[in-house]
Amino acid sequence: MNGLMQQHDLLISSLIEFAARYHGDTEIVSRRVEGDIHRTTYAQVRSRAKQLARALDDFGLERGDRVGTLAWNGYRHYELYYGVSGSGRVLHTLNPRLHPDQIAWIINHAGDRVLAFDMTFTPIIQAIAARCPKVERWVALCEAQQMPAELRQAVPGVQSYEEMLAGQSDEYAWPSLDENLASSMCYTSGTTGNPKGVLYSHRSTVLHAYAAALPDVMDVSARDAVLPVVPMFHVNAWGIPYSSALVGCKLVMPGPALDGASLFRLMDDEGVTFAAGVPTIWLGLLNQMQEEGRKPRALNRVVIGGSAAPASMIATFQDRWGVKVRHAWGMTEMSPLGTACALKNKHLELPPEQRMAVQVTQGRPIFGVDVRVVDGQGADLPWDGASMGELLVKGPWIMSDYYESGQPSPLRDGWFPTGDVVTIDPDGYVHIMDRSKDVIKSGGEWISSIELENIAMAHPAVAMAACVAMPHAKWDERPLLVVVKRPGAQVTASELLAFYEGKVAKWWIPDDVRFVDAIPLGATGKILKNKLRTQLIEPASAGA
Ligand code: AMP
Repeated sequence: MNGLMQQHDLLISSLIEFAARYHGDTEIVSRRVEGDIHRTTYAQVRSRAKQLARALDDFGLERGDRVGTLAWNGYRHYELYYGVSGSGRVLHTLNPRLHPDQIAWIINHAGDRVLAFDMTFTPIIQAIAARCPKVERWVALCEAQQMPAELRQAVPGVQSYEEMLAGQSDEYAWPSLDENLASSMCYTSGTTGNPKGVLYSHRSTVLHAYAAALPDVMDVSARDAVLPVVPMFHVNAWGIPYSSALVGCKLVMPGPALDGASLFRLMDDEGVTFAAGVPTIWLGLLNQMQEEGRKPRALNRVVIGGSAAPASMIATFQDRWGVKVRHAWGMTEMSPLGTACALKNKHLELPPEQRMAVQVTQGRPIFGVDVRVVDGQGADLPWDGASMGELLVKGPWIMSDYYESGQPSPLRDGWFPTGDVVTIDPDGYVHIMDRSKDVIKSGGEWISSIELENIAMAHPAVAMAACVAMPHAKWDERPLLVVVKRPGAQVTASELLAFYEGKVAKWWIPDDVRFVDAIPLGATGKILKNKLRTQLIEPASAGA
């Protein structure tokens, strides 16, 4: 017997309709690339997203056609999120931190017909426009008079976004779409091979937005002012542009100003209560808080994800500043949210050290995400908090295949292999030990590079740490610690190595420490271990 419930497709357009209807005057604040602050509302975003949808109709864009964006977090990008997907086209966000050759390759592979870009990225556009024959329209996210003459010369037919919207009516009925249609896409920025496209659907996006807002996940409501530091150009800013409309919170977007001082000022001015970002971003903000001797006035919680959050960072936020931390884990292929570290009542009674041992894990699977941990032969490992193996996942917002990759689907019996090496404890808390390619294989045993980095980060003289596997004649690989010192701090290699004693097994302690000025970071803020290893390999093997 079927239930007697109505059937309605889950559509992205319904999110902005809801926000405009019930939170129409709630503010969306953006720092523009010009540096000034711009204010709009959900009602105005809906209006302009509809004007945009009509402009795309005039361009002759069909359902499923791709519209690329190369843009920071800001209101025009937000309007594109709704105008493009809401009207049945596919929003393709591009990561401007990639090499221009890679950006051109991705645009061509995705078949983008329109490409909208912030003025910051004009040099990239000028470099690649001639190599992207499928792009029929280049749209600069600015007023007509802000467009430089060189750009008009270099990119014939380039138009400003405001010109494109001007004169369009906002009378527009969002189309009724099948919820399984593609709504947006994002390419993974793997370190080897060509980037691979992940294609999200309306259904996966709306379900993910519900899940992201849950109390044990991001815990956002209409009373919050939310600042996504995570970029809208990578995995839809962890879904915040959608979940913010779903709850109707104030949204604050930082544009290109992601340094600690700028973020502090914006959070303080706009009363931001909640923010989400990667650890390297939080290092900048914490330094600024230290300098000012206070936190941004209303900030009370942050989500840290994208890379492991060290215990020292979690403790500084919580104990020094009274800002609650929630550690979270996910991937481009997972929309991205997979787990979030909300504590249970029993954890609150634990002594601080044991409670922190839970908080440094990436947390429990969110409802909708199933997990397994398996050994090299694919056999399930116990959930004992100690057995390390590869994490497999499945669920309705997890990818089933890459977009036109020319390869078979990576799924194994319906499970997506994450490439992350983890332990899972009896309560289901997942602890990411490493990427499988970064784990250090010493004498047939595995050493977690993340754990060694987190310990080093707790040392007061360390600004940033990376741990890489170095080839070793006897043990195959041994850990080498690479450290950037805090400005003015003094510390020796032997002092840092002594810092590990009693914190890890003796054979986990790195063999040596190398001090460097900077650690290379990739396009999504993660340490580029391959590059670091190549930079270090010569001198290290000599000393092994
Ligand atoms: P991306 O697809 O670029 O978002 O990268 C996903 C990968 O980032 C995951 O497979 C993990 O290796 C890593 N990652 C994401 N969040 C965390 C976290 N909280 N702790 C450790 N690694 C993480």
